[in-house]
Amino acid sequence: MSREPSLKITNLTAVQLMEIDGCTRCGECAEWCPTYAASALISEDGEKNPGLSPRDKIYRWKTFVDRSYGIRAQILGPKEIPEEEFDKFVEDVHGCTTCGICGTVCEAGINTVELWEAMRANLVKRGNGPFGGPNGKQSKMPNIIINCKNSYNEDNKNRLNWIPEDVKIEDKAEILYFGGCTAEMKQTNLAISTARVLNKLGVKFCMLGEDECCCGSVTIRTGQYHKEDHVAKRLARANVDAIAAKGAKIVLYACSGCFRASLVDWPRLLGEELPFKVMHVSQFLAEMIDDGKVKWEKKPFDGDKVVTYHDPCHLGRHVGVYDAPRKVLQSMPGMTYAEMTRSKQYQRCCGAGGGVKAGLPDLALAIAKQRVGDAEKVLYPEEAPKDAETTNVFAQACPFCKRNISDGKKARLDEGDKKAEFIVEDIIEISARALGLSPQWSYWSLFRTVVFPDGCLSEHCTEISAKEKAAYRSWTDRYAAFFYLLISEKKANHKPVFPYR
Ligand code: SF4
Ligand code: SF4
Repeated sequence: MSREPSLKITNLTAVQLMEIDGCTRCGECAEWCPTYAASALISEDGEKNPGLSPRDKIYRWKTFVDRSYGIRAQILGPKEIPEEEFDKFVEDVHGCTTCGICGTVCEAGINTVELWEAMRANLVKRGNGPFGGPNGKQSKMPNIIINCKNSYNEDNKNRLNWIPEDVKIEDKAEILYFGGCTAEMKQTNLAISTARVLNKLGVKFCMLGEDECCCGSVTIRTGQYHKEDHVAKRLARANVDAIAAKGAKIVLYACSGCFRASLVDWPRLLGEELPFKVMHVSQFLAEMIDDGKVKWEKKPFDGDKVVTYHDPCHLGRHVGVYDAPRKVLQSMPGMTYAEMTRSKQYQRCCGAGGGVKAGLPDLALAIAKQRVGDAEKVLYPEEAPKDAETTNVFAQACPFCKRNISDGKKARLDEGDKKAEFIVEDIIEISARALGLSPQWSYWSLFRTVVFPDGCLSEHCTEISAKEKAAYRSWTDRYAAFFYLLISEKKANHKPVFPYR
């Protein structure tokens, strides 16, 4: 009796099938893989998890294909692959940040990131994925995003809550700032800084506001782009049409994930060129610096600092933007740039991407701690800082990197590692400081909100989600929230801005 193959391979291209065959199993990728390396740090026996090795994953997938379509299968029929093998493979192929360094070092030239994403999509279609299974947290994302237009299950009107009164956003302009769910709803300092920097430099820009949709990155990276009647394509269509309706010619991004999705994924999903140019905000600033249009007003921090920069995978290896962020940092007064050994195309991933932060937080943290160790070697080559004045700066250009590296820093500090005492900030926040601007809501703004509570304090809080903040209805709770923010800002060594600019 002829049996159906256990695996369908229609979503893999002919090139990808050849790549699977072309792997020489040299193992170079395994030497560089951050998840494979960090798995030893969280395992009970201190051994690496062999299932996470990129070489192992390619080999296992090859055996799946061979059992389904190889010569033996052609003659005797496909051999059944036990479901447990697929379930184990789902775990391993999602234990990958899609950082892409395996592809960078692969001498066979295998485009591994595309391969991992194709495998993930294949398994989701088969009913095995994503991570956590069909009823898990990741699995719910496409439905949440298509209903809310954002990945945080929030009312999409909340996208506007970060905007301070001093920020001027045009209704229509040739330049559009695409904020992204995380900068607009969680790490609002990023959106505030970007808007203030553009205002200060005299760049007129518009935004999509509540018409902005999630860029779709999370659905693509987790192999779920096809769910909800092709959610990723629907999001790309909505965003591209909304941007075109604004008449924008250049779209700026401070989030590397949104930037990568727009530059690479949107044209591919839609099968058309975008009717506008997309730029990371660091590229835009670097061009302005070259044109002599940026005059830094001050050192971004008190005293001189050593600064190093972490290339986000989505900005670096995925799309090749390496020089612009460095140019921005190197042009600032009071900043001495130091390069980490693992940088540019050989950078070590922060550990947050590809759904790992949400699905495997212990693994994400172990990788972040290693990346913090890389930074310590150049920020404090000799001894740990003695006080806040001597702390140096670890810069990123992506909210996910900032979050995970901050977590890694905290974990190392908790373990007594004094060299983990440094400032973690995004390039655009540092740029805001160097232009004499605050990257955050001012205490005065927060205080005013408490005194004249015509809205929920969630509009102004960057520390607590809007949902949690909706609970702050009473005066007592509002004052408590204000002082909580005051203390957390103090602990973060941020200087108050009074009144706000
Ligand atoms: S580096 Fe390339 S050829 Fe070598 S084992 Fe890894 S994927 Fe295969
Ligand atoms: S993309 Fe990065 S995390 Fe994933 S297998 Fe390759 S090296 Fe490992």
